[in-house]
Amino acid sequence: MDIRIGCGYDVHALADGLRLVLCGIEVPHTKGCVAHSDGDVAIHAICDAMLGALALGDIGKLFPDSDAKYKGIDSTLLLKEVIELVRYKGYDVSNIDCTIAMQRPKLRPHIDAMRVRLSEVVGIAIDRVSVKATTTEHLGFEGREEGVSTTAVVLLIAQ
Ligand code: MG
Repeated sequence: MDIRIGCGYDVHALADGLRLVLCGIEVPHTKGCVAHSDGDVAIHAICDAMLGALALGDIGKLFPDSDAKYKGIDSTLLLKEVIELVRYKGYDVSNIDCTIAMQRPKLRPHIDAMRVRLSEVVGIAIDRVSVKATTTEHLGFEGREEGVSTTAVVLLIAQ
């Protein structure tokens, strides 16, 4: 069986008054991610994990932030393009696991909505989509609420 694994990591700075979008869900908060796109750090990490599994580079190569057409773009559209590429290359997504690190707000109330949204966008069952959240116990940039990071792992299986 031909299987591929990929990992992804992304970070965005937080600033007052911006929208906070994680896994395609808008989370009510006083701060949001500074970005060329909608700043969905979780989806960016997932995209990079998929691209990494197939050694296709990274999200910055596919969707350069110098390109005006990606300004403010809904990152679920980027993920859909990556999924199309994955399927074109002959693979299906087996499962996704990601961990979002941020100090505040508590993400637990939004986790299930994030999993539903990701399962819709990727086109796989919800029990194949894991979204976890952690604080960093006030340590580092996440702990100081200067930024948010996400790590992601995906498994791809040949069609
Ligand atoms: Mg990013």
